[in-house]
Amino acid sequence: MFVKKIGIDLGTANTLVYIPGKGVVINEPSVVAISIEDNRVLAVGNEAREMIGRTPDSIVASKPLRDGVIADYRITQAMLSYFINKASGKFRIFRPEVLVSVPAGITSTEKRAVIEAAIQSGAKSAYIAKQPVLAAIGAGIPINSPVGNMIIDIGGGTTDVAIISLGGIVAWSSVRVAGDKLDRAITDYIKRKHNLAIGDRTAEEIKIQIGSAIPNPERGTIKIKGRDMIEGLPKIIEITNKEVVEAISTELKEIIRAIKSVLQVTPPELAADVMDRGMFISGGGALLSNLDDLISKTTGVPCYVTEDPLTCVAKGCGAVLENLEIYKRSIMSKK
Ligand code: ADP
Ligand code: MG
Repeated sequence: MFVKKIGIDLGTANTLVYIPGKGVVINEPSVVAISIEDNRVLAVGNEAREMIGRTPDSIVASKPLRDGVIADYRITQAMLSYFINKASGKFRIFRPEVLVSVPAGITSTEKRAVIEAAIQSGAKSAYIAKQPVLAAIGAGIPINSPVGNMIIDIGGGTTDVAIISLGGIVAWSSVRVAGDKLDRAITDYIKRKHNLAIGDRTAEEIKIQIGSAIPNPERGTIKIKGRDMIEGLPKIIEITNKEVVEAISTELKEIIRAIKSVLQVTPPELAADVMDRGMFISGGGALLSNLDDLISKTTGVPCYVTEDPLTCVAKGCGAVLENLEIYKRSIMSKK
C-alpha cells in the first residue's frame, strides 16, 4: 500500500502521525537528540528520548516546539523528515501530500518555514493548519458554520484557547501552563512538604493516577519512591489526592484565567453561541480528572471533554487532508 497523504500533529510533548484510512500510525515524543560537540542531530522520537537519559554529558535533548512557537528550524526539519520517512515506508513511489499542525500563535515567517521544511523532507505538497482548528475538526465540531465554538487544548507545554467561527480563529490565547507545569508543581510541592526529591516521570504518574482538579477522595492515594533530601537516602511515602489538588491549584487557576480572558474578548453573538453549545477541552491535559467540572464551575459555561482528547488534532489533520476543498479557509499551502 502506498502512502499518499500524511497528517502530522507536531505537539509540544508528542508527535502523532495520521494516515487517512489507517488512523494514528506513529506516536512518539517530540524530542531530538543533538550532540553538543558538533551540533549534529543524532536521533529523533523514541530513540532520542532513550539516548538522553543514558549519555548525559555530550548529548542534549531539544524540543522543536517550545512555548507554543517553532524554537529551531533545523530541529523542526529533522523531526519532520524523520516522521515523513517513517510513515512513507521503504519503497516510496509517490511523494506524499503532507499536512502539519502548527501552534495558533505562529508568525507568517514560521508558517512558511514549516511548509518549506515539509517540502525539503520530501512532501509533494505541504499544508499547514492551526492546532485549535484541527482539534475542533477532530472532535467533530462543525467549524465552517457561522457559529462560535470554543476549544481549549491542554498539551504538554501550552494551553491554547480559541474561538472558532467560519473555519477561522476569531479570538485566542496561549499560555505556557499545561501538563509539564502541573508535573513540576507536584515535584515542588513534594519537595517542600515532604523533603523528598522525585523525578519527572514520577510526578506525571502521580498526576495521572490520583490527580484531579477538584478534591475527590475516591481517586485514592499512591506510594512513591524518591530521595530524602535531608538524609540523602531512598524513601517511600504515600501521597493523597487532596495533596495533588493542592499542589496544582495555582497552575489550574492560570489555565482558567486564560479561558476567561478569551471569553471576555469574544464578540457577543459568538459568546452566546458558546454559552449554548459549551466549551470543549482536548489534549492530554483534558484527561485530568474533574477538570471539565472545575472549568464549568469557575466560568459558568458548560465544559465537555472531547472524545479521544489525545488524538483529536491528528484526526483533524486526516479529515482536512481528505477534504481539502471543504477546509480551504483553514489551511495554508505550497505545491
Ligand atoms: P502535546 O499536544 O503538547 O504534545 P499532548 O496532548 O500529547 O501534548 O498531552 C501531553 C500531556 O498530557 C502530558 O503533560 C501528560 O502528562 C498529560 N496527560 C496524559 N494523560 C493524562 C491523564 N490521564 N491525566 C492527566 N494528564 C494527562
Ligand atoms: Mg497537541
